[in-house]
Amino acid sequence: VPVRVYNFSAGPAQMPLPVLERAASELTDWAGSGMSVMEVSHRGKDFVACAADAEAALRRILAIPEGYRVLFLQGGASAQFAAIPMNLTASGETVAYLNTGQWSAKAIAEARAQEVEVVVAADEADSAYTTTPAPGSYEVPAEARYLHYTPNETIGGVEFPEIPQSHAPLVADFSSSILSRPLDVSRFGLIYAGAQKNMGPSGLAVVIVREDLLGRARPSTPSVLDYARMAKADSMLNTPPTFAVYLLGLITHWIEESGGLEAMGQRNQAKAALLYQAIDGSDFYANPVQERSRSWMNVPFTLADPSLDSEFLAGAQAAGLTNLKGHRSVGGMRASIYNAMPIEGVRALVDYMTEFERTKA
Ligand code: PMP
Repeated sequence: VPVRVYNFSAGPAQMPLPVLERAASELTDWAGSGMSVMEVSHRGKDFVACAADAEAALRRILAIPEGYRVLFLQGGASAQFAAIPMNLTASGETVAYLNTGQWSAKAIAEARAQEVEVVVAADEADSAYTTTPAPGSYEVPAEARYLHYTPNETIGGVEFPEIPQSHAPLVADFSSSILSRPLDVSRFGLIYAGAQKNMGPSGLAVVIVREDLLGRARPSTPSVLDYARMAKADSMLNTPPTFAVYLLGLITHWIEESGGLEAMGQRNQAKAALLYQAIDGSDFYANPVQERSRSWMNVPFTLADPSLDSEFLAGAQAAGLTNLKGHRSVGGMRASIYNAMPIEGVRALVDYMTEFERTKA
């Protein structure tokens, strides 16, 4: 029985082993306190320093420019779907969205519930969400307060290879691709992400917002979702998810020690290439996504004969390759290969796929 499996879950996802080991070693006595980090006051100087350190490390690895605030919030990325229009628009104003899959569609539905005029500037539903809109193929209305898009659709495995052009501030749901490669933060008005793929456990959502967008929240905005109020309170208007913030700190340091986002990007590109090559090189496996828009993080694939799906999954599980079942809406398989998945895990998956095909095809 393997002590650690290769976990291909879309999220909560595999975490780096050194991070888990460090957390385990500090679990009952953190920073000489005689307590775990979960048991100390969030307003004590040790935890305040821990949160500041996590933010500083995140700022270093993403090279977040001055003039941006980093917020640690709760409610997942989903709470931000509503918080974004609450913070950035008045009721009745126009906003633009690119619809590339189920997560953009959810963001659109939540925005509509906030009584804004949602213009879907590009809609990839016609391709069954296997594409991203070509640059220049859509227009953002002049009056749009922002353009929202989902750089990586976790379910469809569709990723924008470029940052969209927009005169309106760009707002991006980076839940499943943040920290996977270098990013020019200065191109964005607001970046947000749930932590549970590349940044730690669930329970923490990170918002990176340009300061000039702060301070226009609607009066009805709950204070814990009001970016300006949370920024002013250093994200401690109420009790933050302390353990998740601590783990974000360990993960950002792990990324730094592993060579930063350049190194992550190279590793992730190599991992994805290996898996797509295996899929494309066989008639037994298939991935439906337009080549330029294939995700580096989430790789859905189908078997030519879906009646073999459960046997494929059972064999994978027995080989220590877990959580490969595709999203219920898509079927087939999905391998999520976030930062913490080593290339050895992808090799083990490819070897298993090759062997399964050899015996079944
Ligand atoms: N956006 C994307 C791209 C996601 O993958 C997810 C979760 N899988 C969400 C939003 C929702 O995140 P949460 O569960 O943290 O609300």
